[in-house]
Amino acid sequence: STFQELGLDANLLQAITDLGFETPSEVQQKAIPLLLESERDLVALAQTGTGKTAAFGFPMLQKIDVDSRTTQGLILSPTRELCLQIANEMKQYGKYSKGLNVTAIYGGSSITDQAREVKRGAQIIVATPGRMKDMIKRRLVDITKIQYAVLDEADEMLNMGFYEDITDILSGTPEEKSTWLFSATMPKEVATIAKKFMNDPLEVTV
Ligand code: AMP
Repeated sequence: STFQELGLDANLLQAITDLGFETPSEVQQKAIPLLLESERDLVALAQTGTGKTAAFGFPMLQKIDVDSRTTQGLILSPTRELCLQIANEMKQYGKYSKGLNVTAIYGGSSITDQAREVKRGAQIIVATPGRMKDMIKRRLVDITKIQYAVLDEADEMLNMGFYEDITDILSGTPEEKSTWLFSATMPKEVATIAKKFMNDPLEVTV
């Protein structure tokens, strides 16, 4: 299939053309229509390098309201490098979404600078769980209007000991949001998180 057939808006299709993406990858073909069509939760088993960032990124970019300055999308990711990479990809994908602000927050860098970025009106935050929890506790971010939460590389985040941070963060977000979990493997801890925070999720495997 083509990106057009997946139901993506013209501004995303233009960005995709600019990036030189010709065909949607398997995880994109499977996940994007599901996420665009419904507000249901999703569990996707997918490795890195499969194009999974765009699989959750395109639907999130299409669904958020860029005219609002509230934080509507949260992407949790295990490392600073991945946060920066995802934020960078989201900015490229959303280059024609006027008014879009994507902010990366992660440890080992100035919390004041990151708080200032968030305050400018980030509709999407890409964060490591530790720094995210810290900023929530200090009231530097507002997660009460989150509509889409992504747990990227969930198995990796849990391996790194982020279980409590993740559960604390998700507990502070609205009940009626959509949660999209991406993981290369499905160990018990990931299944526990899925069970605790997700409601009858759609499933995609690549
Ligand atoms: P990811 O698995 O999300 O880390 O993506 C791996 C790489 O593939 C990234 O550099 C993307 O920019 C690129 N990519 C994602 N989707 C496509 C696609 N449909 N066609 C070509 N490249 C892609």
